[in-house]
Amino acid sequence: MWEILLHSLRKGVVTAKPAAPLPHDLAPAPRDSAGPIELLGEALRSEIHRLFGRSMKLRHVDCGSCNGCESELQALLNPFYDLQRFGLDFVASPRHADALIVTGPPALHLEEALRLTDEATPRPRLVIAVGDCACSGGFCAGSFATRLGVHEVVPVDVRIPGCPPRPEEITRGLLKALRK
Ligand code: SF4
Repeated sequence: MWEILLHSLRKGVVTAKPAAPLPHDLAPAPRDSAGPIELLGEALRSEIHRLFGRSMKLRHVDCGSCNGCESELQALLNPFYDLQRFGLDFVASPRHADALIVTGPPALHLEEALRLTDEATPRPRLVIAVGDCACSGGFCAGSFATRLGVHEVVPVDVRIPGCPPRPEEITRGLLKALRK
């Protein structure tokens, strides 16, 4: 006990020491720098304004994904990517959505859920398949329980391949869908 106390007194309060300089990749970006996500986001914002006025709402449908694609979709709204600042957001109801984002092979038992969600989405709407599974069945291709892509259930406008696709690739895919 005394040894620990002496050691602490000798060492001092480490948390009060001035912070060491951050390594280059952790340092905050200069305020005037425009990284790839900012450039993509600005392009996204102008397309969203052209087509929808102020914002674009997405409804995500998970049709049997492993959740890897969901992690990347969630990253779109984290403080780093923060796509909400460009007018993009997810909604809980397909009735409020401009586009469907579909992940997963899809699994046969989720086909009906996907079809019903699509029917509930106001027209015109975009359908975007995210991930290898949604584009072509992915690693599940050939399984007795899945299809070979979302296009076998509902018409798909844009495919975003990858296992999983990175947030930049998803953003690029969204831009492609809006320019279609
Ligand atoms: S594409 Fe990859 S990450 Fe996405 S659901 Fe399929 S296996 Fe998971």
